[in-house]
Amino acid sequence: MITRIQGLHHITSLASDARTNNAFFTKVLGLRRVKKTVNFDAPDVYHLYYGDETGTPGSVLTYFPFPQMPKGRAGTGEVGTTVFAVPEGALGYWKERLATFNAGEIVQDTRFGEARLCFQGPDGEGFALVEAKGDTRTGWTDGGVPADAAIRGFHSASLRVRDGSAMGELLRFMGYDMQETAGNVARFTLPQGSAATVLDVETLPETAQAKQGTGSVHHIAFAVENRAAQLEVREALTGAGYKVTPVIDRDYFRAIYFRTPGGVLFEVATNEPGFERDEDRAHLGEALKLPAQHSHLRAELEQSLPPIVD
Ligand code: ZN
Repeated sequence: MITRIQGLHHITSLASDARTNNAFFTKVLGLRRVKKTVNFDAPDVYHLYYGDETGTPGSVLTYFPFPQMPKGRAGTGEVGTTVFAVPEGALGYWKERLATFNAGEIVQDTRFGEARLCFQGPDGEGFALVEAKGDTRTGWTDGGVPADAAIRGFHSASLRVRDGSAMGELLRFMGYDMQETAGNVARFTLPQGSAATVLDVETLPETAQAKQGTGSVHHIAFAVENRAAQLEVREALTGAGYKVTPVIDRDYFRAIYFRTPGGVLFEVATNEPGFERDEDRAHLGEALKLPAQHSHLRAELEQSLPPIVD
């Protein structure tokens, strides 16, 4: 069994319009844009990172805005809902704020004893806010949301699969325990984790496979402390029969990827070196940062990418 995973690291999704995306996550949700770079595998599109002040693992939501991409179709084999933790008592504030900004249909309910507010992102993607007890992380408050309501990072994510038992087996191998079930949802938690340690597995045996497009989550990444821990995890996964990519340098972390039996793309990412690697804390996310392999494209990309200035 793997013991080195600490919780979620980041969640990466697909968007249609970079500026709409940036405005929603920075101005409506009040997250900080901690990096403005390009998709390393398709440098003609942005890779935008949002999170807390420094982009702490477990707080980082990232987007690839592809202007020409068709809309995704929800289904199985993907992340369903991305859930953020907010302070206790904050849902009233958020209900009003989200309604003001037209964040789709807003539904308040309770899941596993926690009050939850569900809403949609600009491309229809599923989000929720949960009043999380005992979460001591600090939210970003320069984005217009006060400290007593600011998003602290991820609370959890839901994984939609046709076969919940196969996903459960993988999560147990990754160090998660099944906590409780409610209907077709099983809640898993990571006892040794540090933040964003909850995953809900939704079993939907009759639901078709998702079709990826804008509004879809592309992959979900789990945090490990460093490269040594990542290599341990890679070896364990490979030993268990998973086809895992070689270690890939993403400049702000090292990444390995593997496809789960139900089709969800998992990544394991290192906490090091982080987003302060090439920008001061005070100016994170301001300048267009390019990885060395694409730095020769700067003049071209500064012309072709839509400007995002705040
Ligand atoms: Zn990733």
